[in-house]
Amino acid sequence: MSDIIQLLPDHVANQIAAGEVVQRPASVVKELLENAIDAGASDIKLILKEAGKTLVQVIDNGMGMSTTDARLSFERHATSKIRTAEDLFQLSTKGFRGEALASIAAIAHVELKTKRDEDELGTQIVIEGSAVKSQEVVVTPKGTSVAVKNLFFNIPARRNFLKSNTVELRHVTDEFHRVALAHPNIGFSMFHNGSELFSLNQSNYRQRVVNIFGSKTNEKLVPVEETTEVLKVSGFVGKPEFSKKTKSEQFFFVNNRFVKSPYLNHAINAAFEGLLKDGYHPSYFLNLSVNPQTIDINIHPTKTEIKFDDEHTLYAILRSSVKHSLGQFNIAPVLDFDSDTNLDTPYDYKDKSGKTPTITVDRSFNPFKNEFETAKSNAGSHRSSQLKTQAHWESLYVGLESKSNASKNDFAEVTFESDAKTESIFKSNEVAQEKTTYQLRQKYIVSTIKSGMLIIDQNRAHQRILYENLLKQLTSKEATTQQLLFPLNISFSNSDIAIIKELQADLEFAGFKFADVKDEQIVITGVPVGVPESEVTIVFEQLISDVQNDVPDQNFSASDLLAKSMAKSLAIKTGQTLNAEEQEHILNSLFACKEPSVSPSNKTTFITLGVDDIEKKFM
Ligand code: ADP
Ligand code: MG
Repeated sequence: MSDIIQLLPDHVANQIAAGEVVQRPASVVKELLENAIDAGASDIKLILKEAGKTLVQVIDNGMGMSTTDARLSFERHATSKIRTAEDLFQLSTKGFRGEALASIAAIAHVELKTKRDEDELGTQIVIEGSAVKSQEVVVTPKGTSVAVKNLFFNIPARRNFLKSNTVELRHVTDEFHRVALAHPNIGFSMFHNGSELFSLNQSNYRQRVVNIFGSKTNEKLVPVEETTEVLKVSGFVGKPEFSKKTKSEQFFFVNNRFVKSPYLNHAINAAFEGLLKDGYHPSYFLNLSVNPQTIDINIHPTKTEIKFDDEHTLYAILRSSVKHSLGQFNIAPVLDFDSDTNLDTPYDYKDKSGKTPTITVDRSFNPFKNEFETAKSNAGSHRSSQLKTQAHWESLYVGLESKSNASKNDFAEVTFESDAKTESIFKSNEVAQEKTTYQLRQKYIVSTIKSGMLIIDQNRAHQRILYENLLKQLTSKEATTQQLLFPLNISFSNSDIAIIKELQADLEFAGFKFADVKDEQIVITGVPVGVPESEVTIVFEQLISDVQNDVPDQNFSASDLLAKSMAKSLAIKTGQTLNAEEQEHILNSLFACKEPSVSPSNKTTFITLGVDDIEKKFM
């Protein structure tokens, strides 16, 4: 038999290598931004179309390349950054593997323009799928522009694997934030589909954090400074009362490179011990400088993990310096900041405290109650379907009502639906006339059924009920809005605003009315019926956090995510006492659902215990 081993052609090898380096538009963004920084740029512009799927372009004013270097830069293992193996241990650049451009050029249409200061004219090279299409002399300013178009044009499987633009843009934004935070002395801007999302001037670190995360961030920051033999720490932690439900404001940079370190994260959590509410995470933006010889970041080209020689010492130093800063801040809260204590409320609720009650003052009043009764007997008419929608919203109202006022028994407005399905399960002569349900540990609703016993998880069940109602609202687009007496202003960072903008249409279908969605702020004039004004911020924060944490699948749907998220925010929680009517309402509404057995996040909502099982226990 003849020999069978062959060397792979370059373009195939490059495509394989590309799989390691480029997973999504955000990977391209990271590589191009890092190249611009390595080239000594002081100003870097990122331009995107369709979340980077059709265009990622990075323009820098760095050192540029000669014509020969421009051509060489697309070769695999072509780098100007290391010459010997020893250089690997003294790295001061971001890149060094010489793989990024070659990989990107293998799976996209790339257009490079570059010019050095000393050259009269620049070079333009066009490459498609590793094949050079043209090379020309061009007039171009000093620096480099790399435009990457139609990512994965030649690998449909990978292209199809990309998520929605919302999700991909979020990844890109994360990458942009990381790079921009690590380099406050460089100016960055970011454009998406023609509009500017970020414009970050050269500044100091505090200003950079504030420019990215919103002006309200300024009063949250507590400086951390510590210099020891092995480690220099600088940056900020967020005051405990501004801790977040998400980990979206947690950044470690080691020698100006973003890293993830669960171990060091633990050190920060330890410093915050006793200061945070359950389920909340501290914000931190910390730069660690260590001797490059004591770390290993080369584990994987695109990974952000890091290995330290002496983790334990770093842990101890980090924890104590954060603790120290927090301590100082507690003793003298206004020492480091000319902070106005009025500003310590994160959102614009302070000046609203007086008027909130006037909006929700008559909670039991239900203008639809009588009409609804009539409508019920008039089923089929258009009016009646509208009113039913209204009734669905009341179930939202129920949970909130009891949440804010658990002991008060004001459920006059609740309409109980009796569904055929419900009846078949509960028709039973064993069920006592009056009390058919019982609450266990403020978590479960226990009831009897023909075949034995039924145990419902109150939170999960209510999530299911709200979710199905909300989804109905969203898809039928007939939600009812309750006008607010005074518009509600809520502050967000610009990246959060970008998420809200993406979801604005769906939020409107759900019943929200926006007067404005602008820089760092939204103005709301109407909310879905049943969502109290006081819950609005929570609903939005939860939603943003869900978008950030969700890794949606192919069939990502914004309305589904919105319905899930709102159901989560508004559902009756574990720990809430429910009166008999509320318990029964949950039970009945759950079994009127299309999929009563699981919560929107696929967790079991109820279990049954058969008489047989019970009898066995008594044997
Ligand atoms: P690496 O960054 O690991 O060296 P890349 O494939 O990212 O590998 O880039 C290859 C080479 O191309 C770099 O070493 C650098 O010399 C040159 N290069 C890439 N981007 C730029 C840029 N924006 N400005 C100047 N030179 C660049
Ligand atoms: Mg590089």
